Amino acid sequence: MKRLSLYASQGKSREMSFYSTERIRRPTITGAFDVGRAAPVVTWLTVCLAVAVGGFTAPSRTKAAKVGQRAVDSGSSSSNNPSDNNVPNHVIRHGDRESSMVALTFDDAPFADTLPALLALLRAENVKATFFLIGQYVERHPELARAIVADGHEVGNHSYSHRDLQRASPTLVEKEIAATQKLIHEVIGTTSTFFRPPFGNVSDEVKRICQREGISIVCWNVDPADWRKDTTRDSVVRNVLENATSGSIVLLHATQRKTIEALVEIIPILRQRGFQLVKLSDLLRDRAHREEMRSRAVGHGQAGTSSPGLSRSRTKAQVGSGATSFSLPALDLPLP
Ligand SMILES: [Zn+2]
Repeated sequence: MKRLSLYASQGKSREMSFYSTERIRRPTITGAFDVGRAAPVVTWLTVCLAVAVGGFTAPSRTKAAKVGQRAVDSGSSSSNNPSDNNVPNHVIRHGDRESSMVALTFDDAPFADTLPALLALLRAENVKATFFLIGQYVERHPELARAIVADGHEVGNHSYSHRDLQRASPTLVEKEIAATQKLIHEVIGTTSTFFRPPFGNVSDEVKRICQREGISIVCWNVDPADWRKDTTRDSVVRNVLENATSGSIVLLHATQRKTIEALVEIIPILRQRGFQLVKLSDLLRDRAHREEMRSRAVGHGQAGTSSPGLSRSRTKAQVGSGATSFSLPALDLPLP
């Protein structure tokens, strides 16, 4: 499949910069949008054009993803159920329950086919979000990783090759996390303080390394399973709108065109309901602040000790000793 030369210009890319390519075919978004309710026409047109011209092909999920499907399927009942104990307690899954904030998070970035349109939509709607980066994707498209941050979003670590780390060796877990930390630092110049485990699967080793490195493990409490073939734009809309509530962390995938289409409807409706759409760091800072205030109000001991684990500082400028020194397996996904 030919790939677009996206974001050829540096810095804050223009969403139109990728239109002048050869893949002007197969316009796929039609009048299915609820234009009148969902978004200003200009936004709709922008996204419609971006998606249509981008000629997205929803990436077929291969071995790693199928592993994930099993993992997600087996844990799907927990995704919207905070009382489920499949994920350890100190894995962050939501912000404060009294907050007006909701965080949209996008996994498996940067994915070239879909990222420009996704960024264009978020820019048009003035939404800031959190993108979890796969190290191998960052290596393939460092300019797209930088484009995410240039638009005001933040990034987190989503491992190097998207392996299920639950049963991985301590050495591999460390390499998967460290390699991507180092790439993010080298390519973007920032240090990620969030780790989202592939498929949401964690182990004691994952927790130990993240704790040592000052990285918070962040999962979610709203999961429309947007990457699955049996979900649709409408089901994604329905799932998010039914489940997103105060302090929710919404799991979405930066690889899915139907997700972009769904967001055209989701974003305005969440705002109509009074939610602020924020980055994870804002959501968790708000949670820590509220918990501290409550703690003070009831005269409990140390303020802030019940924070959700938001890393306040880093003890290491970067992690690991170099991505290129690792012998990590190739990512078994159709990389852009
Ligand atoms: Zn993922």
